[in-house]
Amino acid sequence: MGGEGFTRKGFRLFDFLFSLFIGMNSKDNLTGLLDRFGCLQAAEKLLTTSLHNKTSFAVVWLDLDRFKKINDSFGHTGGDAVIRNLAERLQRVVGRSVIARMSSDEFVFLLPECDRPHAESFSRLLAETVQELIPIGNMTLCPTASIGIAIHETGETSLDVLERADRAMGAAKSKGGNCIVCSGDEPTPGRLGISLAREELLIESNLHVALETGGLCLNYQPLVRADGSIEAVEALMRCSVKGENLPPAKFIPVAEKTGLVVRLGEWSLLQGALQAQMLQNQGYQIKVAINVSRAQLTSPKFTQALNAALICSNVNPALLELELTESLFMDISNTVQMNLRNAIATGVTLSIDDFGTGYSCLANLKDIPARKLKLDRAFVTVLPEDARALAVVRAMVQLGHELDMTVVAEGCERQEENDLLLEAGVDAIQGYFYAKPMPEQELVQWLQSWSTK
Ligand code: C2E
Ligand code: CA
Ligand code: CA
Repeated sequence: MGGEGFTRKGFRLFDFLFSLFIGMNSKDNLTGLLDRFGCLQAAEKLLTTSLHNKTSFAVVWLDLDRFKKINDSFGHTGGDAVIRNLAERLQRVVGRSVIARMSSDEFVFLLPECDRPHAESFSRLLAETVQELIPIGNMTLCPTASIGIAIHETGETSLDVLERADRAMGAAKSKGGNCIVCSGDEPTPGRLGISLAREELLIESNLHVALETGGLCLNYQPLVRADGSIEAVEALMRCSVKGENLPPAKFIPVAEKTGLVVRLGEWSLLQGALQAQMLQNQGYQIKVAINVSRAQLTSPKFTQALNAALICSNVNPALLELELTESLFMDISNTVQMNLRNAIATGVTLSIDDFGTGYSCLANLKDIPARKLKLDRAFVTVLPEDARALAVVRAMVQLGHELDMTVVAEGCERQEENDLLLEAGVDAIQGYFYAKPMPEQELVQWLQSWSTK
């Protein structure tokens, strides 16, 4: 049955010994395919041949989705008819591979001389075959299947591969069914119990390494006012592990899923505050804007982390700005509200990041205690062609100004964009057009050369 698998039925070794003992392929009565015993024997045989020929083989485990519902609705006779129909179809596409019925709605395919790409395309063919409509009574069924793949690895027994294919099928089922999962790609629960794919686990471990080995740093990108003066610099995190740079678009989502973003965020608050103080020491009264993520602001420890950064850096809080997305301002949970109030009380300013994306609501703006509005890059990249986007920018600028906010446009790369944005009335612009995010050593040089321009 769906989700129940090979080892979970609990007769793994017994199955195997018994099948060797009876010494013959046993067949399933309903479909005429090999049954579990037959499958085990065939798998053992395949392993021997593959080792001898030094080739690889694959096991594909297929489990029909929602079969229990079919049985419940059409009775066992209806269920049997569906299985027979399905077994016939599957048999038509298997070619050289062995097919077995493992339990009521589970089928296993043993594929000799098969690597991952072949197993995947074979599995896609199986999925398509399963999806052909089945008439049952006066209705038509549209079945789907969860499919798990395992490729034999050196040193594994035939049972090991079967077990892995079964587990991969279980993972496909947990993803909602109607999909294929290859063993090794199954999601694994992360620290917060959220499923992480293999790549994400690797990123998580790299982030830990980076935190411990000084692989994190902040780059800074200026926000340039219409008159050429500097409104602020935004601190953007960079992570490098063993000489390889991980882009924020990859590591920030993983840090958010695993809760690591709280530690990363505390680190960037402190580094950003130190940088603001350092700039001031060098004669630059420039704000440093720091990105704050949802996980940070929903944590009761945020206020403490912010205060610690202010105390350790001894910076004037007016030189720090926190960039938050709009939904955070609208969060009515006590912790978020308290963190926002406490932050404002310290004297730091708040800014709404990525405005205009997601579920932005102009009506909310009046209730948000932020002094700055950062219009998302999406409005800028479509200029000058998209006249409607420009109209929206103009309206947002006007509204922002009426609410006494500074309006910034992000992601400006070209002269035409810059000119249109200034014409629309934005107060400051951030983007490659002026400067890319740069390491702290370069920032001071850039500020120097900018001021002499
Ligand atoms: P964001 O806060 O919207 O930051 C702006 C992003 O736009 C940065 O990407 C910046 O490098 C990029 N950008 C700036 N100008 C241009 C331009 O002209 N063209 C293009 N194509 N891109 C431009 P980056 O540094 O990759 O950061 C991506 C996102 O990662 C940030 O988006 C922010 O949400 C997040 N992030 C970065 N650092 C931190 C951090 O310290 N803490 C948290 N919580 N999130 C961070
Ligand atoms: Ca930002
Ligand atoms: Ca942004």
